[in-house]
Amino acid sequence: MKRIMPVFLIILLFCCTGCQKEKLTVSDFMFNTYVSITVYGEENAQTAREALKLGHEYEQIFSRTIPDSDLSLLNSQKYLNQANNDLYDLISTGLYYCELTDGALDISIEPLTSLWNVTAENPAVPSGPDIQSALSRVNYKNIFLSNDGSISLENDASIDLGAIAKGYIADKIRQFLVENGVSNGIINLGGNVLCIGSKPDGSDYHIAIQNPQDTQGTILTLHVDGMSVVTSGTYERYFISDDKLYHHIIDSKTGYPAESGLCSVTILSEDSVTGDCLSTACLVMGKEDALALLNSLDNVYGILIDDKMQIYYSDGASDFLEK
Ligand code: ADP
Ligand code: MG
Repeated sequence: MKRIMPVFLIILLFCCTGCQKEKLTVSDFMFNTYVSITVYGEENAQTAREALKLGHEYEQIFSRTIPDSDLSLLNSQKYLNQANNDLYDLISTGLYYCELTDGALDISIEPLTSLWNVTAENPAVPSGPDIQSALSRVNYKNIFLSNDGSISLENDASIDLGAIAKGYIADKIRQFLVENGVSNGIINLGGNVLCIGSKPDGSDYHIAIQNPQDTQGTILTLHVDGMSVVTSGTYERYFISDDKLYHHIIDSKTGYPAESGLCSVTILSEDSVTGDCLSTACLVMGKEDALALLNSLDNVYGILIDDKMQIYYSDGASDFLEK
């Protein structure tokens, strides 16, 4: 049985009394997920539509499934001379977090994500030898960035930016909106929520985290202003075989879906690429290592939910809860 259920953070956008400006939301489907941008005031509507187009442009760079994307070219040729700047930047950021998380985030995971292909029509558990063979190609240390702008992949490495691209793109969309005069709004890239300022009346956005056991319901609500909120979950994309759940976040040490005891990790941070890298990594790392890492970082907060629905907060994270 297969089920695809995008993690979603529900944005509670009540248009407040005293809020003069009309709320406008534009939306589209890209990166295999639902994307929406909300701004306030008719004068910002065109900017929001242009920002959506920007999303498509980034998809053409970072997708591993679009055959002629920049990433697909890199993966097939194992080398790009003068690589696209955004591809270079995102891989560079990714490698920083691969190192920081000791490979819990590993952007060279592609041989394993393709092998598992959990969102396929009829997914199945791969054979042990196939997993070992894919695993032997996974190691972010096989990715090399040169100062001349080229990227090379050694030892048949191949990159998957699925864990981090949406965060990068959300940040770029926010930058575009702000540069074009938008001072309040919210961007939602299928589970990556990024606020621009607060609501026009100065109040916080209310962002609800999905209940992992009842994905129609929510488990808690956060109050945020100008921040990114990103959730990774094991209940998002998965299949079940012989009563066992196989989800889409792979442990690069075992080659199997991570079994860290966590089923949901939400990261609050200034920018969304940070949250995207860390939410995926923390889900692989498990509660103790994840909390230790988050507590060592400035301006980053995490909310972890384990398989028994226990909720854990990194230092300061509970300050964002609805009072
Ligand atoms: P989503 O993008 O589905 O909201 P994540 O940000 O957690 O959720 O990213 C999950 C995706 O990242 C997977 O679908 C896969 O493409 C990729 N991935 C899976 N495991 C890892 C890993 N250990 N390190 C890096 N990328 C991973
Ligand atoms: Mg992620």
